[in-house]
Amino acid sequence: MSAEALRTEPKRINTPVTNGDRLWNDLVATARFGGTDKGGVTRLTLTEEDREVRDWFVAACRALGCTVEIDGIGNIFATYPGEDMSLPAIAVGSHLDTQPQGGRFDGILGVLAGVEVLRTLKETTTRLRHPLTVVNWTNEEGSRFSPAMMGSGVFAGALSLDAAHAVTVGAALDAIGYRGEARVEPAAFAAYVELHIEQGPLLEASATEIGVVTGIQGLRWFDITVTGTEAHAGSTPMAQRDDALVAAAEIVLAVSNIARENPPGVGTVGFVDVGPNSRNVVPGTVRLQIDMRHPSEAGLDRMQAALEDTVRSVGASAELTRIWSKAPVVFDPSIVDAVRNSAEALGYSATDVVSGAGHDAAHIATIMPTAMIFVPSKNGLSHNEAEYTAPEECARGAEVLFQTILELDQR
Ligand SMILES: [Zn+2]
Repeated sequence: MSAEALRTEPKRINTPVTNGDRLWNDLVATARFGGTDKGGVTRLTLTEEDREVRDWFVAACRALGCTVEIDGIGNIFATYPGEDMSLPAIAVGSHLDTQPQGGRFDGILGVLAGVEVLRTLKETTTRLRHPLTVVNWTNEEGSRFSPAMMGSGVFAGALSLDAAHAVTVGAALDAIGYRGEARVEPAAFAAYVELHIEQGPLLEASATEIGVVTGIQGLRWFDITVTGTEAHAGSTPMAQRDDALVAAAEIVLAVSNIARENPPGVGTVGFVDVGPNSRNVVPGTVRLQIDMRHPSEAGLDRMQAALEDTVRSVGASAELTRIWSKAPVVFDPSIVDAVRNSAEALGYSATDVVSGAGHDAAHIATIMPTAMIFVPSKNGLSHNEAEYTAPEECARGAEVLFQTILELDQR
């Protein structure tokens, strides 16, 4: 069926729809907490500005009839009752903290769209079977305290509360009054859905309204040292050179080709250190730093194997070390289906995408069925005051989020 046909004949004509204007008003209202002159937001985690937006969120959710729980790392769980309180809650959310001179949408849209869903439920006296929990995860950005995705990491058990508190987060939580005592168990939830801006250019470039996020790509970092022989640039014949930079150049080209041969993989050599780095000396050592990413473990394996082959085949002696890796995240197909069906039922154009950036959903996916919804980012910009997603784009994201909740609620 064409998108046009779906638009005129929606599957769920009688279901309530979220209000895009009201969502936009909330985005504008909360952007004043840490708002910058250039229309961005500086709201680092657990600062006074973060306390202000947290207070706003807690007050808004309480006014709508939610119970609010805060755990030991300051994650906020606002739960709206369902018809059957013995069922686990459906969870949605994201983060309200930003980068320095960050944007008004990164993370914030996912939390405020959750609030808009609550407003719609209340206004239309719609009762879900499941309770619905809107979550604000602490310190997703990681710019004030490392590591990023801290609150969701503690919740998912990837990071201990003690370890997180050790980086002075405990004192910061106390300072704004958000070190809670609730013990919120992952078992309390049936699923987690996070609405987020894309932070990349693909949806805008293809004029697609909704990104159905199937996972988050994995990455591997490598260091390579190429060793040749330093020699005089004038007196050493070409046939007798052991030039480390020429060999390294082959590796640089290979990294680009390997990524192109393994779509949608990406590969980057972002750092080169040449020794002795002098015009008239044949380079004796070169160090390279390499970043490779792919949505599948098999893709990463193929890219690594090709890189190892290249390193073995270059003229000079080269040594490769893998210094870091992060496995790809594959979201739960049944939740991804619910997102895809919801976009289709609402008549919005949608395409499957893999997230290039990390999100709280990466941690949460390890403990419950999880998926994400993307809406376009103007010019692909994020972590930037010029970050922008139009009101109607935010509204579509909230509608798809709500429709997904309704579909999951029927399961
Ligand atoms: Zn974010």
